[in-house]
Amino acid sequence: VTYYLQNITTKAHLNAFVEVYTQSALDQADLIDEKIVKGKAGKLAGMVIGIKDLLCYAGHEANASSHILKGFESQITTTAVQRLIDEDAIIIGRLNCDEFGMGSSNENSTNGKVLNAADESRVPGGSSGGSAVAVQANLCTVSLGTDTGGSVRQPAAFTGVIGMKPTYSRVSRWGLIAYASSFDTIGVFSKTIKDNALVMEIMAGHDDFDSTSSRKPVFHYSELLHFEKKARVAFLKETIESPALQPEIKERTLSILKKLASEGHEVEEVEFPLLKYVLPTYYILTTAEASSNLSRFDGVRYGYRSPNAHNLESMYKLTRSEGFGEEVKRRIMLGTFVLSASYYDAYFTKAQKVRRMIKDYTEDLLNEFDYIIMPTTPSTAFKFGEHSGDPVAMYLEDLFTVQASVSGVPAISIPNGKDKSGMPIGLQIISNSFKEAELYAFSNYLT
Ligand code: GLN
Repeated sequence: VTYYLQNITTKAHLNAFVEVYTQSALDQADLIDEKIVKGKAGKLAGMVIGIKDLLCYAGHEANASSHILKGFESQITTTAVQRLIDEDAIIIGRLNCDEFGMGSSNENSTNGKVLNAADESRVPGGSSGGSAVAVQANLCTVSLGTDTGGSVRQPAAFTGVIGMKPTYSRVSRWGLIAYASSFDTIGVFSKTIKDNALVMEIMAGHDDFDSTSSRKPVFHYSELLHFEKKARVAFLKETIESPALQPEIKERTLSILKKLASEGHEVEEVEFPLLKYVLPTYYILTTAEASSNLSRFDGVRYGYRSPNAHNLESMYKLTRSEGFGEEVKRRIMLGTFVLSASYYDAYFTKAQKVRRMIKDYTEDLLNEFDYIIMPTTPSTAFKFGEHSGDPVAMYLEDLFTVQASVSGVPAISIPNGKDKSGMPIGLQIISNSFKEAELYAFSNYLT
């Protein structure tokens, strides 16, 4: 704990943490020391973990990096976080992110931007930028992020760490401040597959507080990391031939595929004609869900209330106008539009149908192959300001991560070398639902 606290202080300019629980982390460490002496320590004894500012922790503020939640202190603890605490993990602080998880660069945060420790003029990715940098810069051993459309995998790729998004419903969402409820997952950042797998197996599993959480049994992922079979691997023609793909990322991805083939694994190119529909489908459905989820922030129940209001109507309007940032407002408006009576069928219903097609196609592929491999992102970390004036360019950053989110299947990003400016490249591996053990084992084989 003292080691990490020191790093957090010397690297404070990276702006990864919005709050550090210095005293409680030190106290917790002492308690766990005693438990270790008595032989009573949990499976995560002493593991130092940071949590994204979207995860509630009782008695602590949770702001979703939004002005509208300033001053909001949670009365509940996220189930996933509680399970880690129960195994004697030490929660060291709250991590910066894009407001309500909306963004791909961590530039949409009321707490300011997070710097990528590999090159401080570049973004760390988003929305879990603080969680990624906290692991990258040794500010904690493991961190939790949330991944709705890539927010764990993309920042992991940009910072050269491991980032895992589990199957939708594998980890309870209770306590996670909702962005798009049918996509939201809690994911893990780490430097090793073993740490990642261990934390995931403890968080996963049914929770009475989240009726959508799965009752399927959870395996001990961290003890199943040995990989010896021959894998059947597909790669999607449209991703590797995408004009948006940085040539060095293409090269590194192809060289992994080549290596796998040379080691006797079956590697096949397949077509994914739906790729061009994945982003529009994702952004129609997530903005719709967000507009509904975020209607609860009205100045009455949580956090900020405008001091300029003179009646109920103006209190709602001013609180929301002053409290939400620009990107969040854009999404609330888009979502309200696609859900409006005259456009519902044209956008929302159609996007639901396309979602089903993408999911079916992806699952069929994953019945035929064990894994789909593709780059995590089209480019490595870009410079601050490069896309911030152009929301569509920013949305395009999620081109390769949203397929797994729209389909609900698990996906991981692992480091795959660097480009010529020294920026990390990520490799994404996708497997079928609830195949986390297989995904970790194969990733372990590849790292
Ligand atoms: N960048 C994507 C978005 O802005 C993903 C966000 C996420 O996974 N939370 O919606």
